[in-house]
Amino acid sequence: MAELEGLEFGKSDFVLLDEVSMEQFMENLKLRFEKGRIYTYIGEVVVSVNPYRQMDMYGKDSIEAYRGRELYENPPHLYAVSDAAYKAMKRRAKDTCIVISGESGAGKTEASKYIMQYIAAITNPSQRAEVESVKNVLLKSNCVLEAFGNAKTNRNDNSSRFGKYMDINFNFNGDPTGGHINNYLLEKSRVVQQQEGERNFHSFYQVRALKFTPVILETQTHLLLIEIKAVFSRHHFIQIRNELKLAVMNALQVIGFSKEEINSIYQILASILLLGNVQFESDGESVQILQLEAVNHISDLTATDPESISKSLLYRTVATGGGEVIEKGHTEQDAYLGFIQTNGALYERLFGWIVGRINSVIEVKNYNPVLHGKNTVIGVLDIYGFEIFDNNSFEQFCINYCNEKLQQLFIELILRQEQDEYQREGITWQEIDYFNNQIIVDLVEQPHKGIISILDEACLTAGKVTDMVCLDSMDTKLAQHPHYTSRKLCPTDKTMDFKKHFRIRHYAGDVTYSVEGFLDKNKDLLFQDFKRLMYNRFSSSPFLKEMWPDGQLSITEVTKRPLTAATLFKNSIVALVDKLACKEPYYVRCIKPNEMKSPVLFDDARCQHQVAYLGLLENVMVRRAGFAYRQPYARFLQRYKMTCEYTWPNHLMASDREAVEAIITQHGFQDDVAYGQTKLFVRTPRSLFTLEQERAALI
Ligand code: ADP
Ligand code: MG
Repeated sequence: MAELEGLEFGKSDFVLLDEVSMEQFMENLKLRFEKGRIYTYIGEVVVSVNPYRQMDMYGKDSIEAYRGRELYENPPHLYAVSDAAYKAMKRRAKDTCIVISGESGAGKTEASKYIMQYIAAITNPSQRAEVESVKNVLLKSNCVLEAFGNAKTNRNDNSSRFGKYMDINFNFNGDPTGGHINNYLLEKSRVVQQQEGERNFHSFYQVRALKFTPVILETQTHLLLIEIKAVFSRHHFIQIRNELKLAVMNALQVIGFSKEEINSIYQILASILLLGNVQFESDGESVQILQLEAVNHISDLTATDPESISKSLLYRTVATGGGEVIEKGHTEQDAYLGFIQTNGALYERLFGWIVGRINSVIEVKNYNPVLHGKNTVIGVLDIYGFEIFDNNSFEQFCINYCNEKLQQLFIELILRQEQDEYQREGITWQEIDYFNNQIIVDLVEQPHKGIISILDEACLTAGKVTDMVCLDSMDTKLAQHPHYTSRKLCPTDKTMDFKKHFRIRHYAGDVTYSVEGFLDKNKDLLFQDFKRLMYNRFSSSPFLKEMWPDGQLSITEVTKRPLTAATLFKNSIVALVDKLACKEPYYVRCIKPNEMKSPVLFDDARCQHQVAYLGLLENVMVRRAGFAYRQPYARFLQRYKMTCEYTWPNHLMASDREAVEAIITQHGFQDDVAYGQTKLFVRTPRSLFTLEQERAALI
């Protein structure tokens, strides 16, 4: 710990601070960042500060140094926590998870990649071919997911625009046998629109840059892509830069995507790009598409006849009250809205399909627990952090709700369980006061009363319920809630637009949301005609069919309303939290040192804000008031009995607990420990560190 690195690098565990205060915390964090010590512990939690430069600490030697070691034997590192999670999984057959949190650009995705690389490096020492291939696919999947799910934003050049939770399955040997990826809320609006200075998903630039003819692409696809380039100059979605990443193509092949599948992927990408060129014009009576050549290209790419494509963009089929089915022309506005939804949906389904395809390759097959032992899991969660923008919309609302849920889980697992354990073990304990954000979670998700319910109700109401009507309804129902406000409820607050805005006091700070677009985004309406087109039999691509199973339904069959976007998201996050809650958690808390991507700048105010909302200080207090390390008496005795004359080789005392007391007293560590019913609790890592050294010298 501190001793391993020298005191000039600060305290390697915040638990060792002389006093727990924000000043000392920040001082230590800053000192360590400046000394190139980007990782610091709070007990078993890793606090990581993005170095914004290549660090020489991820090589083979480092991996070897951490392999199989205890946390307190080496300087803090992601590898140590990965190893702890791995050991818990392997030795104690525990399902574990590593939850990585922090705001955009704080280093979550990089951390998740190092964790995966570490796990890949320490497993399968005998190099069994089938395990190597599983590992390879797991690692390559990152490359594909990044190409299709990441984009340059103003905060991060390689920002993940989706949440990712990956389970890795292990056999009783501790070798990976497969995995499963869950993706959350892809930011599909980016396909059509990006903020100033931002870009579309990486994948589009890769299509654009298909300069060489990768052998895998069919000539027909490739020729079309060349033609498409000519159309690009007028493109509305993206500015063009960047070169092809052949790595993605290679990764797709390694994972096992067939030639036909890869072609389909690029055809769909090209179609979305072409759709981006479509504009509508109304002559007052009917609406036309201006760029028929784009429609013809799409038709070639997807082998769907051009009339059907035009029709799906210009008309919708509606069932009348009498059960009659008629075709109704869109207004120009409807056509445009439909077109935006269509583009986003095409991409979202493509992304979902790619994830599903990867899952079908890595899913554990033919696992027989009787033959192979318990199948254990390590989950890695890399999900968007808290977002406060100048303009916050439905997406930020969902993302911030997700962070409230994860904070709730953190409180539950780290703070509450910790205090519960002290009580259970009968250790005198002063309760720590921390802010419990359950009240905000309720504000969003409570049935009938919460914001999501109010939104859903507005979406279900027949007729034209506008965003403003919905805001009114929220104001009425939530007026009393201490974490909700709007201009109407608080007329003196000039920072909010009277009509449009509401504000939530999140655990991480106040966020003002513009209600504009909430209802449309929540309804997430897609015209059934388009779904049918995608599914229909003219389409030559079996993969499009797989992406659009709901296109099977005819208009008269579509009676049940699909769940709203907010409710679907809520359900997926609730399921995620359930999944995490039954695992032994490890946490990586990422901090972004500055807004300039600078390796030398430590912006005190920005960092302090993050430390505050991540609840790190409370975390240190609980850890410190409590005991960072604990071990059942028998296990402690087994490990350290050789360091004490009364316990080696066997003790003659009435209980293991008394034997442990003998070891502790002989070393003079009485003040650093407490004796629970079943476990020894150790306050700081110092005493364990000494015991480890003595043990090492004796064996
Ligand atoms: P997040 O996923 O939290 O939004 P990323 O993991 O994408 O953030 O990190 C943003 C950028 O910061 C990376 O592209 C990389 O340039 C840099 N970075 C993050 N972590 C590290 C690290 N451990 N070493 C070097 N650079 C890093
Ligand atoms: Mg990321």
